[in-house]
Amino acid sequence: MSPERTTDAIYLDFNATTPILPEVLDAMLPYLREGFGNPSSDHAQGIRAREGVELARGQVAALIGGSANEIVFTSCATESSNLAIRGVAATRAAPGRVVTSSIEHPATTSPCAELEARGWTITRVRPRSNGVVDVSDIEQALGPDVAIVTLMHANNEIGTIQPVGDVATRAHAVGAVVHTDAAQSIGKIPVRVDDLGVDLLTIAGHKLYAPKGVGALYVRHGTVIQPVLRGAGQEHGLRPGTENVASIVGLGRACELAGERLATERVRIRQLRDQLWERLRAVIPDLAMNGDPERRLPNTLSVRFPRVDGARLLAAARGVAASTGSACHSGEVLPPDVVVQLGVDPTSALGTVRLSLGFTTTIDHVTRAADALTSAWQAVTRGGMA
Ligand code: PLP
Repeated sequence: MSPERTTDAIYLDFNATTPILPEVLDAMLPYLREGFGNPSSDHAQGIRAREGVELARGQVAALIGGSANEIVFTSCATESSNLAIRGVAATRAAPGRVVTSSIEHPATTSPCAELEARGWTITRVRPRSNGVVDVSDIEQALGPDVAIVTLMHANNEIGTIQPVGDVATRAHAVGAVVHTDAAQSIGKIPVRVDDLGVDLLTIAGHKLYAPKGVGALYVRHGTVIQPVLRGAGQEHGLRPGTENVASIVGLGRACELAGERLATERVRIRQLRDQLWERLRAVIPDLAMNGDPERRLPNTLSVRFPRVDGARLLAAARGVAASTGSACHSGEVLPPDVVVQLGVDPTSALGTVRLSLGFTTTIDHVTRAADALTSAWQAVTRGGMA
């Protein structure tokens, strides 16, 4: 990869992953050097590593308003959601029903599909045209046979925020266990387990300036759940395997920083995001926004560029690192499924570009990215349909 691509790119893909903050790396390094012990060992090195893990457990819990002993460290958000869904399903003697949305991440859809293959019924509720699932639609899907309700807190592609709290109240009324995938919302908006009323909540390290390869699952006291991996008794017996100490320490520090910075960062990033939208729209008046303009993450701008393919646009907008959300299937480029589910026609949905901002984004980045994208759009569309 050329240096230009790695260093000069204007990074607007924070929903894909975030850089590790310097403070996070500083917290981790001692655990990659002299603090290398196994947290299960009772000698000095082990105790030191254990203290690092337990400090992190408290820091993660503090950010979401849980107790330290309700945090289970995992390897990623995918593992957390698998543990939540498959771990609860494993406690049931017979297949039951899961209620979920039709716009979940594969970390949720795949374990649900696996349960379906084993005789469970999966009810997938579609969002309304604004990308938000309506509480009444979930309510209609609920019944006494529902064992699990899993609804993402914020959508990774379009950023829409789902009514998890209202859904949890109704789901609990029918006796279901409630899980939310908060991989995208943690650190961007307030996420408090009691406000959301959830039993299980997924966290990903690399979406909030901690390393990749670490995540956590919040498990509310009293939730009946079994481990998915089998091994020794780490993590309250729910996730065996020697802990990834340095990364866990990094996740803890990242949560602490997120808590300190959330109030100011939310406002700052939202302003930058809105300026980006205004700058793009000034040149491309028929640019369209995907999803609810208000009820979405402050950092996320999913837009449809008219008369162009998003991938072709990004290839032409040199130096802008963003994503299209499109998928390639049998050699054919498919538009982002979530955008099609909003009722957007597939050709127009192919013009989607997801611009997601973060802690290192500045007004200079926004200005340069807007210029690069609008120039690219003009160049690509000059000859007519791209
Ligand atoms: N859930 C959501 C909403 C995500 O955006 C992602 C990553 O894109 C994941 C889960 C999976 O995260 P990981 O790849 O770290 O397991």
